[in-house]
Amino acid sequence: MGYFKDIFDGGLSLVEGMGVTVRRLFRPLVTVQYPRKKIPLSSAYRGHIELKIFEETGTHKCIVCLNCEKICPSGVIKVRGEKLKEKGPKTLTGYAIDFSICSLCGLCVEICPTSTLQYSREYELVGETRADCQIDLLERLSKQIEKKSEEKKTQGIAA
Ligand code: SF4
Ligand code: SF4
Repeated sequence: MGYFKDIFDGGLSLVEGMGVTVRRLFRPLVTVQYPRKKIPLSSAYRGHIELKIFEETGTHKCIVCLNCEKICPSGVIKVRGEKLKEKGPKTLTGYAIDFSICSLCGLCVEICPTSTLQYSREYELVGETRADCQIDLLERLSKQIEKKSEEKKTQGIAA
């Protein structure tokens, strides 16, 4: 009796599965052909943290207060700064994060007194080792600034 019931249940499950497949065939697609097509990211998306570029200065506003480094519950952040001028705040000389242990809690973003930290929109990071998760945010920022200035130059030539 159990043997025939198993066959019946298996057949029923197969029919139900095929029913779902057939119904889905006639509904609009909910997936895209990534990476050829991409869907817009949610505004709530949190990539790894990054240094913000301010329009008025063309760079970040980090004052090396170390608040972010101290508050990070996972010890992800390592900030380095040097006193380049006798007066005034230190100059940022290094900002490294280990994204492999970041919980994206957001405490660093919230505590930054100059609002110079934000979540990046990065979602295509790949790596084979944990070392690939070590990100130099200052170096990354320099590249972004360089790219922006190149784009401006190109737009200037095209205009
Ligand atoms: S989001 Fe949280 S865990 Fe990640 S770097 Fe900032 S404070 Fe640390
Ligand atoms: S909290 Fe903000 S200003 Fe202070 S070290 Fe971190 S990024 Fe720089």
